[in-house]
Amino acid sequence: MNAVLSFNAASTATVMTTAQPDGNVASLSRITKRYANGVLALDDVSLSLRKGEIVALLGPNGAGKSTVVKLMMGLSTPTDGSVRIFGADPRQTSTRLRTGVMLQIGRAPEMLRVREHINIFRGYYPSPMPYNDIVRAAGLEGIEERMFGQLSGGQRQRVLFAIALAGDPDLIFLDEPTVGLDIEVRRGMWTQIRSLASRGKTVLLTTHYLEEADTLAHRIVVINKGRVVCEGTPAEVKSLGSASAGGSTSRSLKIIRCGTSLPAATLLGFRGVTSVETAGDITAITSTQPEATLRELLALDETLHSLEIKSPALEDAFLALTSE
Ligand code: ADP
Ligand code: MG
Repeated sequence: MNAVLSFNAASTATVMTTAQPDGNVASLSRITKRYANGVLALDDVSLSLRKGEIVALLGPNGAGKSTVVKLMMGLSTPTDGSVRIFGADPRQTSTRLRTGVMLQIGRAPEMLRVREHINIFRGYYPSPMPYNDIVRAAGLEGIEERMFGQLSGGQRQRVLFAIALAGDPDLIFLDEPTVGLDIEVRRGMWTQIRSLASRGKTVLLTTHYLEEADTLAHRIVVINKGRVVCEGTPAEVKSLGSASAGGSTSRSLKIIRCGTSLPAATLLGFRGVTSVETAGDITAITSTQPEATLRELLALDETLHSLEIKSPALEDAFLALTSE
């Protein structure tokens, strides 16, 4: 037996369908988690999930993402702070019956067919999702009679996703569900995750793919070294990241790309300019005061060409937020 199988082995219970009084489906309050080996994996982390929301927990390896998932699943207990899922303890059977999980290191018996895996898990729950709905939601049509051991990496991930859906959960944890999958398979899974949220399910997704967080999440929580670095809509996180990329609190950071004859030393003297990089004919000027920078640039360089002004990508924002 492995983690995916053993945690789901709940049998009977009565199921309540109330969210917490504060409207949150799940919450971590001021959680500290120190493992037995002394590693401080989470340091005063608070996080809540609202009904129908897709929240992406975004952070580099070792940030503490899987620890958050394990605590919310009741697979691990906090050193300090409290975890509430549907207003209750995550280890209660009634709570587990309403949650589904795709753990980061998920495995399933190789000799069982896709159909069998799904039906075994459906059997653990009082009101499972209909078999055909699961197959459709996980994109498993046509491979239902194949054995798990014969599937490709992407197909295996989809079976694990199907297993997470078996109990028709209200709250779904997906721990790096698309890691190692090619972009086409990932996009397919994104569509499936979106459709769950549109049916009122709450999804907590961990990822280190910036694009994934940006395209899927209603809210992104950036975590690094066990602490929440920032939290907001994808647009808010990008602008916060931009500000810290520029080393200032300005939210107007832009990258001005152009062909210019001015030397880097001159450009660095302009108001707001924080960095200058040249590759071939094109110079990228990062500025916290792009309008002022542009005025000086246009005034001093009559040969300026190929002008382009961009907002920093989420990637830059993310790196800025998670680097020292
Ligand atoms: P992520 O999922 O973001 O990569 P994890 O939550 O898995 O991060 O790990 C956070 C930190 O806790 C890391 O330093 C990791 O080595 C450590 N850690 C995770 N699980 C355990 C464990 N069971 N025992 C000891 N240390 C652990
Ligand atoms: Mg992890």
